[in-house]
Amino acid sequence: MLYSQKTQQRTASLLSRRGFLGMTSGIGASCYLGGLSEALANTPQASAPSDLKITDVDWAYMRGHGVHLLVRIHTNQGVVGMGEGIDAVRGSSGLMEWFRDQMIGENPLNVDRVWEKLRRRGIFHGAQAGMFVAALSGVDLALWDTTGKALGLPVYQLLGGKFRDKIRMYCDTGGARSERPEDLAQGAREKIDMGFTAVKFDLDNAADPDRWDTFNWTASNSEIDHMVAKVAATREAIGTKYDLMCDCHGRYDLHSAMRIAKQLEPYRLHFLEEPVPAESVDAMAEITHSTSTPICAGENLYLRYGFRDLLEQQAVDMIMPDIQKCGGLSEARKIANLAETYYIPFSPHNVVSPLGTMASCHVCASVPNFSVLEWHWAGRLEQWNALPTTDDATIRDGHITLTDKPGIGIDLDLDVVRKYAVEGWPVFGKI
Ligand code: MG
Repeated sequence: MLYSQKTQQRTASLLSRRGFLGMTSGIGASCYLGGLSEALANTPQASAPSDLKITDVDWAYMRGHGVHLLVRIHTNQGVVGMGEGIDAVRGSSGLMEWFRDQMIGENPLNVDRVWEKLRRRGIFHGAQAGMFVAALSGVDLALWDTTGKALGLPVYQLLGGKFRDKIRMYCDTGGARSERPEDLAQGAREKIDMGFTAVKFDLDNAADPDRWDTFNWTASNSEIDHMVAKVAATREAIGTKYDLMCDCHGRYDLHSAMRIAKQLEPYRLHFLEEPVPAESVDAMAEITHSTSTPICAGENLYLRYGFRDLLEQQAVDMIMPDIQKCGGLSEARKIANLAETYYIPFSPHNVVSPLGTMASCHVCASVPNFSVLEWHWAGRLEQWNALPTTDDATIRDGHITLTDKPGIGIDLDLDVVRKYAVEGWPVFGKI
């Protein structure tokens, strides 16, 4: 029943506006490994990559999972690339003006050079973390998209090729509308029946009636009992075959976190996410080394430097950089490669649009230690389905098939971007 035709049809219609047509076309694509030859055959031989120059950069803000920054790079050869930054991008328009001034005249094919030029010149402007790096991530994606389009190659090919054709997604069910374990269990089961092989829900609940204090980070006995009941009910509902993850959003103190992780051990989580904030590597290490529950962290860390101590101390069992916030595609790949040297898997945080999500897929395909990629749009399906101009980012049976189109391979419908504009904020030069 799980993988019945009826279920597949329902999945397709939920996750793609082009429904069954998209699903059938994906069956062939899922076992297709011929992307390089096709892409090389389509490479524009008449282009002059060495003469490619950035002539302008513009950007837009869009509502969705918070605020999304969309960055466009224009060139002297008519090639236009688009990227996306997320989370820490509010108020970044002035910074984007400065980025634009630094980028005009550069060859976008020198992705790392342009990236490093902005970062080094920004050392005194916050280039270590936060808004600077989140906006830089949007620029990085646009550089890779431009490069791929100019050379006629998909980004994964430029990153060294792919280990896999399809990227396994997990469905983040977000905050529960009900705190009843049976409701959470049913919600998770529904996502499994849609074709996902992994699901996540939020374990922390600031409104728990048995919380003694709303500001400290200590979980009461009853709070922990409620958490265990939710995880137990969900595990029972989905069985042991499928992966289950829980997010704590860094809301607990060290001892509470250790107790939560220990009591969840029988339920064999794929990971417990940030039971304490990720800034204290020593605290994270103490939790990780105290339990068999795998601990995952990193959605609010930036650059290779933000992950270095975490990895060197093996303070986590899994890392979850946000690719559109941590520095972009090449930076995320470097972080994944660093984790690989410690035999630590890579499961990126991912709340971006279909454009950014496909960009994440290119990185996930290019590293051996990829585990599973987040998808956080179950509550915003209309926007997810309306944004892309093609079906390429459609999720089929819990996976996205990597596109072989040049660049990131996803174009967004700009009318839909405007529909979700942030009032008073720029949309590609207009407010
Ligand atoms: Mg999270």
